[in-house]
Amino acid sequence: MSEKPHSAIDRYKARREGKVVPNLTADERLEIRSPRQKIGSGKKFTPYRRSQKRARRLLMWASFTLVTLILLAWQSLPGHQYPIQLVYEIDLLQAPNGSLTVTMITEGKLPGKLDLEVATGRAGNPGNGVEIHSITAFEMSDGGMQGKSLAITDLKDGWQISTQGTRRAVIAYRIDLSSPPESEEDIRQYISTPVEGGIRAAGFEIFLLPTTVPVGDITVMIHNPRDLPVLVPWPALVRGVDRLDSDRDQRSDPLDPSVQPAHLGLGQGFQPAAKVDFPSGKIPSPGKGIAAPVPASLFFHPRDLADLNNALIICGDIRTSTVQTRDCVIQLATDQDWLFSDEAALDLIRRIARTELGFFGSAPNQQITVILSANRVTVETGFDVYGVHTGSSILVLMDPETTYGMLEKQVSSVIAHEMFHGWLGEAIRQTDPQTLWFTEGITTWYSARMLVAAGLWAPDHGRETLLSRLERDYVGNDLMGTISLAEAAAEVMAGPDQVRFAYAAGVAAAMSLDQWLATNSGLQRPLDEVLRHLYENYLGRELSREIIEEAIHTVTGVDCHDWLEAHVYGKTALPPLEQLI
Ligand SMILES: [Zn+2]
Repeated sequence: MSEKPHSAIDRYKARREGKVVPNLTADERLEIRSPRQKIGSGKKFTPYRRSQKRARRLLMWASFTLVTLILLAWQSLPGHQYPIQLVYEIDLLQAPNGSLTVTMITEGKLPGKLDLEVATGRAGNPGNGVEIHSITAFEMSDGGMQGKSLAITDLKDGWQISTQGTRRAVIAYRIDLSSPPESEEDIRQYISTPVEGGIRAAGFEIFLLPTTVPVGDITVMIHNPRDLPVLVPWPALVRGVDRLDSDRDQRSDPLDPSVQPAHLGLGQGFQPAAKVDFPSGKIPSPGKGIAAPVPASLFFHPRDLADLNNALIICGDIRTSTVQTRDCVIQLATDQDWLFSDEAALDLIRRIARTELGFFGSAPNQQITVILSANRVTVETGFDVYGVHTGSSILVLMDPETTYGMLEKQVSSVIAHEMFHGWLGEAIRQTDPQTLWFTEGITTWYSARMLVAAGLWAPDHGRETLLSRLERDYVGNDLMGTISLAEAAAEVMAGPDQVRFAYAAGVAAAMSLDQWLATNSGLQRPLDEVLRHLYENYLGRELSREIIEEAIHTVTGVDCHDWLEAHVYGKTALPPLEQLI
């Protein structure tokens, strides 16, 4: 009754259940049951077998010791680095005057020298609209006392701190946002700026980042002593006890409604749209209060340095309103009075969000915030509407005279575009300039289709908008045939002509690729599936040409390498387009 040999998984299962595996020898069977039983059970073991076992045990012990020793030796090498913990404390006391004070606490096994970097040109350079200065560094004792000063050396785009023998180093600096930007063409200089009553600051411009050590936990704390309305990009933890009298018991007490435990501050951390004045030092008890209080401190944990860089922090005269769509909070924030109501704008944003969420199946973040602000770029070559996305925040700069009709017909495409980047650009990370044609082309095309699907654009309006863009910026562009699409798109800060060409050509390439893939695979709208496949399987990965080709192949079975080589990375003209929407 001998059975056929079992598979490895069968053996494993049998072992887990303590069963005897039939095709093993009698001695081996015993080993499986319980190693200790063998000795007590008086089973016979030949001396040869016993010494073999001992040798095996010795070998195992020796290899274990060796691995431990190697690990220890490796860790004690001078070059070995441990992840350090980072805490950034942002003080908003001087925010209404256009400046921030940031205290950065670095903790852990610090290297001898800690290199800190900031966005190019921001270190000690007031000409860029954002200046980081007055940097000091010191050691902090375990008891939190200030210790000796640490030496600081200037680097090209940052500073180097001597942290030899230090366990906890504190680096404090000031950021001045009040000087006007030098170049009107670089929209990025309009992100971090003083706004009415406060400031708007992008993470990549205000946080000093360690460049030569791995980073573990990151915490951002915001101190808000002036009770300014504050908007942060993440669902932040709001400590409800912040506004209580200091002599009271600060612990959460379910019987005392005025003591609130920390909670997820979804839709909080800002002044509610209906202006409610809380007498200073007091928050209304739950039930009595009309809307969320403005907390004195907020804190949150960015996932990584990229997430930290993507932060958009705003304080000042802003008002917000929120609505829930599936598992995502959609938030509108603005510092401007418009010709349309906040409710109308929020509803438009919600409809776009609901459609894009439906397309991908889930939200890339728990919160999507759209900030509407006035466009102050007056340079002739500038754009009417600017859209910037940083993480889950979308900043839209537009004419203060924008009507609801214009919001629906024109601005909506910017909102839909930037929101789409939450999936393609953020969740599927866009870092390689060689894939910008894909990220931007697809996003531009799909945002038009999303607006049609959301019922905000009639299909004819969608078609006309795409067609006019293609005719103006692609077909009629002098750059046609002189530069490949991938090359044109890779230069993000090229002149407006090239930017327009790259976006329009990207749309044309996306449509054309979809059409070509449909013909070769028999699938309808194959790129829809490719995008969902990328979102589901390449979450957090950096998009590369290889990944695009791989995903397309998995979904459609078509090898698109040569097609991309000719039409995207080469200068071969695209075949005529059949379907726009
Ligand atoms: Zn874009």
